[in-house]
This record gives sequence, structure tokens and C-alpha cells, in this order.
Amino acid sequence: MQEKSEKLFKRAQKFIPGGVNSPARAFNAVGGSPVFFDQADGSILIDVDGKQYIDYVGSWGPMILGHAYEPVIEAVQETAAKSTSFGAPTEIEVKMAELVKKMVPGVDKIRMVNSGTEACMSAIRVARGYTGKDKVIKFEGNYHGHGDSFLINAGSGALTLGTPSSPGVTEGTAKDTLTASFNDLNSVKKLLKEYEGEVAAIIIEPVTGNMGCIPPEEGFLAGLRELCDAHDVVLIFDEVMTGFRVAKGGAQQRYGVTADLVTYGKIIGAGLPVGAFGGKQEIMDVVSPVGDVYQAGTLSGNPLAMAAGYALLSELHKNPRHYDQLEEKTTYLYTGLKEVFADHEVPATINRVGSMISVFFTEQEVVDFETANTTDQEFFKAYFHAMLENGIYLPPSPFEALFLANSLTQELLDETIEAADKSVQHAL
Ligand code: PLP
Repeated sequence: MQEKSEKLFKRAQKFIPGGVNSPARAFNAVGGSPVFFDQADGSILIDVDGKQYIDYVGSWGPMILGHAYEPVIEAVQETAAKSTSFGAPTEIEVKMAELVKKMVPGVDKIRMVNSGTEACMSAIRVARGYTGKDKVIKFEGNYHGHGDSFLINAGSGALTLGTPSSPGVTEGTAKDTLTASFNDLNSVKKLLKEYEGEVAAIIIEPVTGNMGCIPPEEGFLAGLRELCDAHDVVLIFDEVMTGFRVAKGGAQQRYGVTADLVTYGKIIGAGLPVGAFGGKQEIMDVVSPVGDVYQAGTLSGNPLAMAAGYALLSELHKNPRHYDQLEEKTTYLYTGLKEVFADHEVPATINRVGSMISVFFTEQEVVDFETANTTDQEFFKAYFHAMLENGIYLPPSPFEALFLANSLTQELLDETIEAADKSVQHAL
């Protein structure tokens, strides 16, 4: 029983919708009171009741090197002492843009915003402004933030809560969002044919994280690239989750496919509120004040966020060994969990790309929205709560990816596998 968390949750519910400031952290899908946290170090979280957990949420991605990472803390402290915001240009913004360019060669120009949502909303506007076309193709179960255009068959909290298409989005907006099936090029071809000359952009999570982790099948992303070229459509990779995570250069590097525009969030701000969109010079030149596609932000390129993100990205850039180590650690967890589920004859499909991993309690291969939905949600609930009890903090939804941090040690991974063994027995 987490007494203080429960008390805080009761207080929070009085004045905050559902007691949370983002539905993805609510426990609606698993039941019970969300855990309120007080502090963290590396991969260890401590809640307000003093209980410790091994963290597999990592603030939904930013904590790739663990919490309270010293260079990030130092950068934030030093910068805050000078000013928290000027509303005017600073050197760190320039350094950040230069660093991203080094890490992701396809990004000629980049603009900073304050969240992944903003990044995706802006990228769509830019694609529309550049092409002069209106429609956008997205994929069922993909999530690109809570911009109106994206809350059509969306993933993440929207999917978890059973509201993948949100009331409040006007019919006019909804009609410009077309939905295809992930890993199904034919579904894209059909839409491009039906709406020939009307599609401005295809936006995709190149590795889906928001209906659980689903990798692109061989040739799928390259096929999208070809279709976009053939139909003058802007290809947007939403790398808010995968950017600087599945490889230094994100999914573009991992799969050898270059998008026209890319969106970032999470790691790029090291846990401070940041997003970014960037890509080919020719397209980015439509952005105001060079071009006339308007996009702005009082706090965009905020010094604290830039300093934090720059400290984290610099380390990842200098020491690509982090990616090898993350790969090894995730493989170790994958193998351990696979054995646990096999030992207890629990049907489970485990998908993994780099340090993103998801367990689907199903016998089916999980390649798209439909197959992701075959996961046994009741079993997940029981497993989730047993894991929590055993000190493992998982995303509170059967449709989210786990994000591993390089602060995970062999002992912590072994503890996690042991906890999974106990939790499965409890859940059965
Ligand atoms: N795109 C993807 C792939 C995401 O996973 C998310 C958030 O989880 C977003 C966009 C939206 O980012 P934010 O929550 O920072 O607005």
C-alpha cells in the first residue's frame, strides 16, 4: 500500500483532470492509484512513500543515461544561474543545431520547439506549406502528440484509454487525416491512388512505440520513401521516441532511409520540455522568417532545455559505446524474459529495437495495430501490479514500450528477470 501516493492522488483528482497532467501516466488501464515520485538516481526511482523501483519508463524516453545524470544537472545549474530565458538568441541554440547536424547528417536545418506535439504539428504545417496540398497519411496506432490532425486512430494514452479518435477534433480536420496500416505498403498505395495529388505528407513512427514496440518490416520504410518520391509527398519520420535512441542518428541511420523532415522530443531535452523539427534545407526554408509558414514560441530554444539536451547529446555523440551497451543490456533482458514466459507457458511475443522493448501477451507475431490488440490485457494488469509490488516500474499500459537506460547494471537486470518470474506466477 502506497499511502502517501494514494493521498496525493485524492488531492490531485480534486483540481487536476483525472489527477494527472498527462493521461499516459494515469493508471486507468491497470487500475489503482498512480505512484507519485520524489526522486531518482540512475535507474532507481524512489516514490513519496520511500519505496524503490527499477525504472523502465525513463520519463518515456529522455533518461537514456539514467536519472540525475551529473553533466545534465551541472549544465542546468550553471545556466539557470545566468537566466532561465531571454526570449532572444543564445549561443547554446547554435551549438545544439550544429551538434544535431553532426549526429543526423540528413538534417540540414532544425528548429527547436517545446514538445514532441509541437514538433509534429509544425512539421505537418511546413509540409502543407511546401507542397500546397492538405491531406496527411498517418498509421493506425501511431501517436504524434495531441495536435488535432493526429488524434485520428492514435496510439499511446489515447489508445490505452479507448479513445484513439478524440471528440473536439472538427470534421474538417479529421477529413484531412487519412489512416493506413503500419507495415502495409498496399494500404498506403491505395490511399495515394484514391487521393492522387492531394497528399502533402506521410508521417510515421519508423519504429512504433505507441502501440507497444513494433519494428518496421524489411523494406517497409524504403518502400514509403519510394512512394513519397513518386507522388511528391513529404516523408516525415516522427523520431520523438527513436531519435538518438535506436542509433545515434535514430531510425534514419538504423534503417538507412532518409526522411524529408524529422521530429524530435524526449532525449533532445534530457528531461526538460523540448521538441524539434528539421530536415532538408529546401523544405525548412519555407519556415518563417525565411519563408511564410508561420511557426514560433516564446520559450523555444530555452537556455535550460538547450543546456540539458546539449550535455546529454554530446555524451552520446562522443561515446557511441552507449548504444552497444544498451543493445547488449536489452538483449540480456529480452533473453531472460523470454525464458521466464516459456518456463511458465505464458504466450508472449517480445518485440525489441535497440533499447526499446515490449511484451505482448499473445501467441501472434505483433506487426500492426490489429495484432497488437490481441495482447491479453487482463493478464497484463495482474503482471503489471505484481511487478510494481516487486519493485519494477513499467509503463502502466499494455500498449507502451519500455525504455532502457544505460544506468541499468547486470544486477538490476537480474533483479528484473527474477521479479518477472515471481510476477508471472502471481498473475497466472
Ligand atoms: N511523437 C511520438 C512518437 C511520441 O511518442 C510522443 C509522445 O510520447 C509525441 C510525438 C508527443 O510528444 P510530447 O508528449 O512531448 O508532446
